[in-house]
Amino acid sequence: MALVLIVEDEPALLDGLCEVVEGLGHESARASDGLEALNIAVNRRPSLILSDYMLPGCTGIELIRSLRVQHALAQIPVVLMSAARPRASDEAWRFLQKPLNLADIERTVVEGLTTSERSQSNPRPGAPPANVSPVTLAREDMLNWVAHEIKSPLSTALMNAHLLKREQDGADDSQPSARRLDAIIRQLYRMDELVTSILDAARLDEGRLVLTLEPHSLGAVIAPWLAAFREVHTDIELSFEEPKAPVLARIDAQRFRQIVDNLLSNAVKYGVPPKRLTVEVRAENGEGLVAVRDFGRGIPAAELPRVFDRFHRVEGTGGRGHGLGLYICAALARLHGGRISVESTLGKGSTFTIHLPLAPEPA
Ligand code: ADP
Repeated sequence: MALVLIVEDEPALLDGLCEVVEGLGHESARASDGLEALNIAVNRRPSLILSDYMLPGCTGIELIRSLRVQHALAQIPVVLMSAARPRASDEAWRFLQKPLNLADIERTVVEGLTTSERSQSNPRPGAPPANVSPVTLAREDMLNWVAHEIKSPLSTALMNAHLLKREQDGADDSQPSARRLDAIIRQLYRMDELVTSILDAARLDEGRLVLTLEPHSLGAVIAPWLAAFREVHTDIELSFEEPKAPVLARIDAQRFRQIVDNLLSNAVKYGVPPKRLTVEVRAENGEGLVAVRDFGRGIPAAELPRVFDRFHRVEGTGGRGHGLGLYICAALARLHGGRISVESTLGKGSTFTIHLPLAPEPA
């Protein structure tokens, strides 16, 4: 049994995390701010620390730096948890995005304790003293604050809902309580998606979203995403076409996936049955193209120029969208040096095509 220190200022999330750690057969110690955490670390030497980023009076990064300068504590792996990815998050052993996913937390705790065991049997010299500069909440940007304030309670609610679902495992899924719990979880994820979209849109507007572009074969990178899509959407016939020669483009895989996922999810939302989709990768006129085609309701011609506008939704569309998805996709495509085009025929379907500059073949 190992000791895991959990540092979180929201009591309900702190309780949930302790429950997860204890469920794995370990002991948990709890702290709600950085100073308390440091005291416990000095006195009880935990094997692993899970820390929120935004703590009262200091940040999780400051806590990590304070640990690193103490030889006896420098080796403890620290998992940083935050709704937004703070700039210095790579100083942590691992970063977990809020809202937290139960399986991710469990896996991270198990791996963190293995890492901790290894570093204790094979200690490295302590890290050089870091330049500990006080980072105050006042200097944190507004977006990080909003993300934290909204995503932390969401994270707590989601984790508790998942714990409740686990307790109900084996119970009849058709029971009203099971269905209600599923509805709660779905709505919480929807709220989380909306907050993420609002934050992404704000970051894009302010030019604060920075991509890491690397050359990839578009077909190779997309294929596993489509396989994952097929597993979830077993009722949809999805065909994939790509040329034999790889189509190379410089992309930020995570952000590019966000574009592809959004186009696919729109195709599902607005592609009335029969649900059939095609995804095609091809090279044309010096561009790498990824076309997502559905055979759904289509978009009226007069609406086409506006579908990429912020908050724009085509009237009578129904559904549960918020009109930010295509706006974000178009902005992300531009950050890749490309664009998105759309062709649509009412009643027949739509094709959204991502255009990217081709990357040169590696020498
Ligand atoms: P959301 O789907 O969240 O409303 P989007 O920005 O992704 O927001 O899409 C904007 C609007 O464009 C949608 O509300 C819908 O009316 C229309 N739309 C997007 N994709 C399709 C599609 N594949 N078929 C028909 N209409 C679409």
